[in-house]
Amino acid sequence: MPSTQRTILTAVAWPYANGPRHIGHVSGFGVPSDVFSRYQRMAGNRVLMVSGTDEHGTPILVQADKEGVTARELADRYNRVIAEDLKSLGLAYDLFTRTTTRNHYAVVQEMFKGLHDNGYIFAKTTMGAISPSTGRTLPDRYIEGTCPICGYDGARGDQCDNCGNQLDPDRLINPRSRINGETPKFIETEQFFLDLPSFAAVLGGWLQEQKTWRPNVLKFSLNLLDDLQPRAISRDLDWGVPVPLEGWVDRPDKKLYVWFDAVVGYLSASVEWARRTGDPDAWRAFWQVGPNGEAPDAYYFMGKDNIVFHSEIWPAMLLGYDGRGDKGGTAGSLGELSLPHEVVSSEFLTMEGRKFSSSRAVVIYVRDFLSRYDADALRYYITAAGPETQDTDFTWSEFLRRNNDELVAGWGNLVNRAISMAAKNLGEIPAPGELTAEDEALLATARGAFQTVGDLLDRCRFKAALAEAMRVVADANKYVSDHEPWKLAKTDPARMATVLHVTLQVVDDAKTLLTPFLPFSSEKVFHLLGGEGTWSAMPELREVEDLDGGPGYPVLTGDYQAALARWESTPIAVGRALQPPTPIFKKLDPSIVDEELARLGGETA
Ligand SMILES: [Zn+2]
Repeated sequence: MPSTQRTILTAVAWPYANGPRHIGHVSGFGVPSDVFSRYQRMAGNRVLMVSGTDEHGTPILVQADKEGVTARELADRYNRVIAEDLKSLGLAYDLFTRTTTRNHYAVVQEMFKGLHDNGYIFAKTTMGAISPSTGRTLPDRYIEGTCPICGYDGARGDQCDNCGNQLDPDRLINPRSRINGETPKFIETEQFFLDLPSFAAVLGGWLQEQKTWRPNVLKFSLNLLDDLQPRAISRDLDWGVPVPLEGWVDRPDKKLYVWFDAVVGYLSASVEWARRTGDPDAWRAFWQVGPNGEAPDAYYFMGKDNIVFHSEIWPAMLLGYDGRGDKGGTAGSLGELSLPHEVVSSEFLTMEGRKFSSSRAVVIYVRDFLSRYDADALRYYITAAGPETQDTDFTWSEFLRRNNDELVAGWGNLVNRAISMAAKNLGEIPAPGELTAEDEALLATARGAFQTVGDLLDRCRFKAALAEAMRVVADANKYVSDHEPWKLAKTDPARMATVLHVTLQVVDDAKTLLTPFLPFSSEKVFHLLGGEGTWSAMPELREVEDLDGGPGYPVLTGDYQAALARWESTPIAVGRALQPPTPIFKKLDPSIVDEELARLGGETA
């Protein structure tokens, strides 16, 4: 247990609401951030975990056009689908909201105004591609044509996949829109830019101080500083947050660029959470240094394709808002805001050797997965075999093996045989007799794991933490096999009671150690051991009103403080009645591998 309570913001990447999310998405941002937050809450720290769906930008407009619905209708649909899926996975957000709330618009516009007032946003006229039929910006990757360098006919506006050169869309020969085939129009258009070069020095100094980040994240972030360019933050679109300046705010054809509003989501969701608790200033503890110098720690979780936004662009926006770039300035009405403490990036997950692809059906959506398998089985796989530090391939045969050999035959079997033997022979949790050196050693291993596993979780080394927790399970299984309590029932009932007491204590400890990873089955074990109340709190989906008069929407939230889980070994309750257990995991038939592979589209690797 930490000697002083820490205040921790868990800022989780915002899933884009143009479709349902697949297991590759949730392995990058979802499960790791929840494991981390659950541990920190159990360790007695104050946690605020926020995120939501990212709902502006061109891909949502394109998808909505394709389906013949409005962007808002599409966003409404997938906001709900994604929130329900994250709930089913047990991701314990304090608030999972969305970017189309009025609160979000107001906080985004405040960030823009603060940056603008301090001189870090400027307007510039550039050449841009628009769709002649809609007047909307046609992003580079939505334009294709013939490469001016190699002659390849499928080159995109941002690069040619054949020769690998970076391109500008107006250099393409015979450019056309990938959305509807029309020829884009290149026009002079005025856009706003974030002056990133003004932050090169301060960002460099800040990054150099980071000693705990994953090395790949730090190296990538430092490399970005070599070529900082101003970055466009507005677009010719009719779907997004209005530019909050006179002469701009009412323009239907100009909105803030989707990435600019999405990164502000961490802050706006914190503000929304505070407003919903009835203490509108409660967010400040998670974003600002307090009156006595107490500082919050913000951990950002994402896939590696989003590192640039979290280690460079969002920090630059925070620094600029506070007036800490080359041009100075003063903090806006929100006050000085803290930079990320840790940028926790995952690598990529592939599926049976191929990239996830919705269009080629190389995919399994979270919802489909959870309709056939338990959430803990997926959480276990993602943590034990997911892309924490390197690109990783999801295979159904490995999923089957992990589930059957490790969860069912390892942890599930330990729970089952310890509780059923005690229930059958004694009907209750027995008192121990005199402990042998081996009894003491196993109990000490389990108690000691709270320190080792906790340290690893605190450093976001989830895979190693899970391995250490499962080592306790393996030791306990070996102890049961070595001591054969089922034989002691007739020969030495007193010794049997002691062995079962020790085993049940270690089952209880292992249940606690595994709670951040396996919250659903840990809850079951808690009750199998006679516990009452809620051990491991789950998020709930709640329908809420928009705080500022917009349309209502669902949020994920929960009362996590009420849960009993604490990161410590507690003595089991001797004399508490035990019932024969029901299995905590489902053993899977090997035929699921072929069934699942048959569901994948195209050729399997
Ligand atoms: Zn080319």
